[in-house]
Amino acid sequence: GLTVEGLTRRFGGRDVVSDVSLQVAPGQVTCLLGPSGCGKSTTLRMIAGVDRPDAGRVLVDGRVLSDDTVQVPPERRHVGLMFQDFALFPHLTVAENVAFGLSGPKAERIARAEEMLERVRLAGFGPAYPHELSGGEQQRVALARAIAPRPRIMLMDEPFSGLDNRLRDGIRDQTLDILKEEGTSVVLVTHEPEEAMRMADEIALMRDGGIVQTGAPYNVYNAPVDRMAAAFFSDVN
Ligand code: ATP
Ligand code: MG
Repeated sequence: GLTVEGLTRRFGGRDVVSDVSLQVAPGQVTCLLGPSGCGKSTTLRMIAGVDRPDAGRVLVDGRVLSDDTVQVPPERRHVGLMFQDFALFPHLTVAENVAFGLSGPKAERIARAEEMLERVRLAGFGPAYPHELSGGEQQRVALARAIAPRPRIMLMDEPFSGLDNRLRDGIRDQTLDILKEEGTSVVLVTHEPEEAMRMADEIALMRDGGIVQTGAPYNVYNAPVDRMAAAFFSDVN
């Protein structure tokens, strides 16, 4: 699982992320939920290792990835990433896109890619090029690419926000099923309470760089910590 302790990041003398701590067990989903600018993406970037914290630690399965002295580079963290702008490589086939981050002999990488494409119900799409696929299909390719290297941790930053509502529900559920089956610890960033309610095992409500409340979705919804938290959830029905 993932452990985050006291993560802090300052820009221009301001704490943009302040003392953020999280525990995400294998197969569990924690949603970082909060308004624009509260520090969600900055938190994810530090967990991914593309940004360096000013304080705090990141551990995966008990191994330190980041602290005062250690900084494991992103490509050696066994962390998968999915962002809204999930751009596939246009000049590579679907199978080559999925195989891109894998190591080993080419035949093995392609075999693993085909297996992943089956998992996201895109068997047979391997030889196609991204532009021949619909937006939802491209998103599933991006999902297959993200999970193909068997990451221990999956970091997702509003990965579903580009999809229309009907597609989104299906892809969300499918994504969660696969990640739970693989026992991956998931941190999902969203500013939509409904998405957090639907997907999270635990919600970490963020404001001004800090976590103001953590709990199971219905506890956070039913017993918001203060008026601002209540207002934030008031649109959910
Ligand atoms: P959104 O929902 O809009 O994506 P967010 O919660 O992901 O917001 P962040 O992108 O983490 O917010 O940004 C948090 C704050 O940190 C913002 O005020 C942003 O302007 C600031 N910030 C982020 N990166 C930098 C940087 N490299 N230099 C200076 N300020 C930064
Ligand atoms: Mg963001």
